[in-house]
Amino acid sequence: MVRKIVERVPDEQLQKDLEKYRQRALELGATDARVITADKVVIDERVLAKCTYPKCTRYGTNINCPPYAMSLDQVRKVVSNFRYALFIKLEVPSEKIAGPEARDKNLDAPWRKKINEITAKIEAEAFHGSYYLALAFGSGPCMSIFCPDTDCRALVPGQACPHRLKARSPMEAVGMDVYTMATKVGWDIYPIGEATLSSEVPYGLRLALVLIG
Ligand code: SF4
Repeated sequence: MVRKIVERVPDEQLQKDLEKYRQRALELGATDARVITADKVVIDERVLAKCTYPKCTRYGTNINCPPYAMSLDQVRKVVSNFRYALFIKLEVPSEKIAGPEARDKNLDAPWRKKINEITAKIEAEAFHGSYYLALAFGSGPCMSIFCPDTDCRALVPGQACPHRLKARSPMEAVGMDVYTMATKVGWDIYPIGEATLSSEVPYGLRLALVLIG
C-alpha cells in the first residue's frame, strides 16, 4: 500500500512503522533485527583504512566500494539527518564462512545475497510507506554477489547498475564499524580472517542497515 507523503511522520506513527519493518525483516529471513537511533551508527576512519591497507581485491572495481562509495564526511552528514535505523543480522553457519574451503569456494555468497535482498526490500517498502529518503547499506561487495564475472556497469558513463534494486554499498565500505555496533545491541560477533577455522567460531554474521525517518 502506497502512503501519501507528509512533511514529517509523527513519532508515534514512525515507531509503529519501524516495528513493522523490523517484523518484516524477520519474515524475510533475518536472524534478528533491532531499531536503533541514528546516533548509534558508528563511523570510523579506521574501517575505511582496512579497505586499502592492505588493499582489498574489490577496491576501485565497483561503484559501491571505495573510492567511489560515499565519503565518510558525506555519510556522517547523511546519517545525522535520519532519526532511526533498522539494524539487521543474518547468522551464517561457521563452515560456510570460515576456513579455506569456505573462502576458496565463496560458500557464504547465498547469505550475502540474502541479507542484501532483505535490506533492499525493507528500503523499498519504507520508500512506499512515505519514508522516501530511506537508505540501505548491505554487507560484502555487491560485485562478488551480483556481477562475479563482469565489470561494474555503473562505472561506465551513461550506464546504470542493472541490480540497483538490490545492490548497495556495504556498511564497512562507507566506514561503519559493524563490530562495535553489533556489540552495542548485544549481539555476539567474532572476527573471521583468512586463518580462522570454522571450528574456532560458533557462526559468522552478515549485518546490514536501513536508515529510516
Ligand atoms: S551490482 Fe551494480 S554496482 Fe555492483 S558491481 Fe554490479 S553493476 Fe556495479
